[in-house]
This record gives sequence, structure tokens and C-alpha cells, in this order.
Amino acid sequence: MEPVVSVRGLRKSYGPFEAVAGIDLEVERGEIFAFLGPNGAGKTTTVEILEGFRDRTAGEVSVLGVDPAHAGSSWRNRVGAVLQESSAEPGFTVRECLQLYSGYYLEPRDIDETIALVGLEEKAETKGAQLSGGQRRRLDVALALIGDPELIFLDEPTTGFDPSARRTAWHVIEGLRQLGKTVFLTTHYMDEAEHLADRIAVIAGGRIVAEGTPGSLGGRNTMAATISFTLPEGVGADELPEELRGLLSGAGERVTLTTHTPLIHVRDLADWAIGRELDLSDLALRRPTLEDVYLNLTESTP
Ligand code: ATP
Repeated sequence: MEPVVSVRGLRKSYGPFEAVAGIDLEVERGEIFAFLGPNGAGKTTTVEILEGFRDRTAGEVSVLGVDPAHAGSSWRNRVGAVLQESSAEPGFTVRECLQLYSGYYLEPRDIDETIALVGLEEKAETKGAQLSGGQRRRLDVALALIGDPELIFLDEPTTGFDPSARRTAWHVIEGLRQLGKTVFLTTHYMDEAEHLADRIAVIAGGRIVAEGTPGSLGGRNTMAATISFTLPEGVGADELPEELRGLLSGAGERVTLTTHTPLIHVRDLADWAIGRELDLSDLALRRPTLEDVYLNLTESTP
């Protein structure tokens, strides 16, 4: 099946500055694709090119089989977007705003159903200007969905949301996947990408520096884990069994062991501690998080 988004050798220069320096991307139908990168990495530039709002310097771009630079209104009907800047009309109620926008589409979604989808039932008759920041963002998501698009661009959709509103938004986004929609998500929240994305691409300095599933991005699945604990008073790290002493890393009160086979080494440690009747009450096993991997990938790029 043809990918929903296909990008080859995309470049965008602003004068002498190259904001996007030759990237390749592919997004399959029905997938939630997360696009991560530090401030100024080139995310918005790329997304706006894919949305047909910005022209490009070079490269091939196909979105739903069409070059967005030459796309017409029928293509636009198939694409929804939640931009960083709110697009809601402050003088209109939530319902009026959705009614207005639904008029732009050939086959809009049901208005009440869309209001319910983003959890704004109680604010349906409230004017945009009187919504909280998080509620306005939910209205933005509703506006992006009202045309029942096949592909939805969500640019930092949960910025400013409280934790419970974020969970609600995640359910909405997961619901889109169940409806068979394709979602192109830009976010700065690693937990959001981890929770939602089928695949992640990381851009830094205008280049894709890694691509993969949340679990395997940047070699995360093969990275070392750490086992850490505090030894009871009077017991030194030099008393640990030999196979664990070789894994010691760092200094300080807390002992840290770095290992690629954490399960085996936790067992060795437990055998040793139980045998000596030592209680390691703060024992912790930590595997690299998506944030660890992300920071590793992006901090090494200028
Ligand atoms: P953020 O996470 O802060 O939203 P981003 O990854 O979306 O960042 P872009 O907005 O794509 O980054 O910007 C990429 C680079 O291009 C930045 O260095 C920015 O200053 C520059 N840039 C963006 N738009 C323009 C413009 N219209 N003219 C000149 N430079 C621009």
C-alpha cells in the first residue's frame, strides 16, 4: 500500500540558513507517527511543507498521493491540522465554531459527537474567549476533526493541558487510530510519544538522527540497565561477589551496577544479600527511558 506521507531529500532554506537539510520520511496508513526534536530543529517547517502551507527548496513530497505544493481543495478536505497557534474564533461558542467549520467540508463529522470526542460537552455553549487554555486546545483538536480527515497533523496538541486533560487527549488520539486515521504528531513530551506512537523520528539540526519504535529508538532495547541500592552500614561494595564488583560504576553512597543482563545480576545480588541477611530496601532496576535516548541523540547534534 502506498504510504500516506512520503518525503525524499526534503530541504528548506531561509536565505543562507538551511532549516531542513535533506530528510527522508515515510508514514503508513493508520499509524501514529511522532516527530520529535529540540526547539528550532525544523519540525514546524517540515510539517508546514507537508500541510501545503510552506514551499520547499528541494526534494520530493507526497501526502495522500498528492504534492501538497500543488494540492487543491479536495485534498485539503482529506487533511486536518491542529496548529501551534489556536485557530478558534473567540467570539463564537464551541458549537457555533464547529458549525462554521463544518460548513467548509463536504462530509463533516457530527457536531455533538465531535464535541463529545474531545470532552467539551459542558462547554458547548461557551464562547472561545471564555475557555481555559487547555479547553481552547481541545476545541482546536475538535476543529481539526470536524472535516473527518484521513490524515491529521497534531502540532504539540497537549501543551498546557493538566495531567487528566492530557490523558483524555491521548484517548482521543488513540480513538483516531481505531477509526483508521493516520496521525502525524509533533510533541516535546516523551511520555506522550512513548504512550501513543507506533513509530518515532527524531530531527535535530534539520536532519533525521534516529527513527524507530518507542522501544527500540536509538538502540534503546540493547542499552545497558542500572541496578542501584544502598548497602547497610558497615558493609562495603568491596564485599560484593566478584561478578558484581566488575559492574560497579560511579561513586557515592548509593551503589550502581551497569549491566546488559540485569535479570541475572539482580538474582546474583539477591542471593548474596539474602545469604548475608542484608536488607537492600531501596533496590531499583532502571532501564534507559525514551528521554535518556532522546537527550543522547539530540545533545550530540549542534
Ligand atoms: P520548535 O520546537 O521551537 O517549534 P521547530 O523544530 O518547529 O522548533 P522550526 O520552526 O521549523 O523549528 O524552525 C527551524 C529553524 O528555521 C529555526 O532555526 C528557525 O529560526 C528557522 N526559521 C523558521 N521559520 C523561519 C522564517 N520564516 N525565516 C527565517 N528562519 C526561519
